[in-house]
Amino acid sequence: MGEATTEDWIELRLGNRRDWAEQLATFVFDGWEADFDAGQYVTLAKPIDGSLIQRHYSIASRPGDPLELYLTIVPEGALTPYLFAMEPGDHLLCWPGPRGKFTLDKVPDARDLWLVGTGTGLAPFLSMLRDGKVWQRFEHVVLVHSVRFGEDLGYRAEIEEMAEKSAGRLRYVPATSREGSDGAIEGRITVALDDGRLEAMAGLSLTATESQVMLCGNPAMLEDMKTRLESRGMLIHRKFRPGCVHMEKYW
Ligand SMILES: Cc1cc2nc3c(=O)[nH]c(=O)nc-3n(C[C@H](O)[C@H](O)[C@H](O)COP(=O)(O)OP(=O)(O)OC[C@H]3O[C@@H](n4cnc5c(N)ncnc54)[C@H](O)[C@@H]3O)c2cc1C
Repeated sequence: MGEATTEDWIELRLGNRRDWAEQLATFVFDGWEADFDAGQYVTLAKPIDGSLIQRHYSIASRPGDPLELYLTIVPEGALTPYLFAMEPGDHLLCWPGPRGKFTLDKVPDARDLWLVGTGTGLAPFLSMLRDGKVWQRFEHVVLVHSVRFGEDLGYRAEIEEMAEKSAGRLRYVPATSREGSDGAIEGRITVALDDGRLEAMAGLSLTATESQVMLCGNPAMLEDMKTRLESRGMLIHRKFRPGCVHMEKYW
């Protein structure tokens, strides 16, 4: 939260929205023209009851395309109920520049890149895949998308099409924790890592020598994955102690 001063902020206009499920939608905005690197986020703001409520959102679009965000509503949350009430043509404040360091230039070279997102934690990885620079650095990319229900697998058709065109380089691993869904791992991805199903579906092994791993979304899942990766000798990457795990926590 901050004071309700709105100078320095820019106004975005909602161009269109696509609702994937009751609590899940993609919003495309006009009016944001800053350069950014895939993996960065924007800060949206709205004055509510005398305070400027500010929240961060990963950018799902390719650099250069209109700003696209992938959002879930937190029904009792401060900002998202306002976002989900927006219709095309409505306006919202946004910080004029991009933020964040969850970008590929911070990731050391390796043969394989694993992108593991829960829910809307898919967004930065969509931007990276749409951007395409990832293919100059990595032989394979495994995109693991963990959600509760099949209907929460937003962008599935677009990702499957990218995987089909990639000649085997992009491996898509959807996972649904609360129900079975065609072609998806059933259950938690941590359990699927423990029992081998995750690597089997990817057709690749997660190892400290061959893999870099980016984790994004639900902090409990990120911690559970981190613990398991550490037990394989895969440590959080730091500037002065290179490792292979990178994290963006949403709360
Ligand atoms: C770097 C960064 C990038 C982010 N990118 C996205 C994004 O691309 N899409 C997105 O939907 N959210 C994203 N978030 C979360 C977002 O900033 C807000 O926290 C979220 O929209 C809730 O805001 P609120 O004011 O409605 O709820 P608040 O009143 O702030 O309530 C926060 C609570 O909502 C829950 N929550 C927050 N985010 C989520 C979520 N994504 N899924 C489920 N539960 C959640 C948690 O329990 C959290 O404690 C990101 C957060 C960070 C730090």
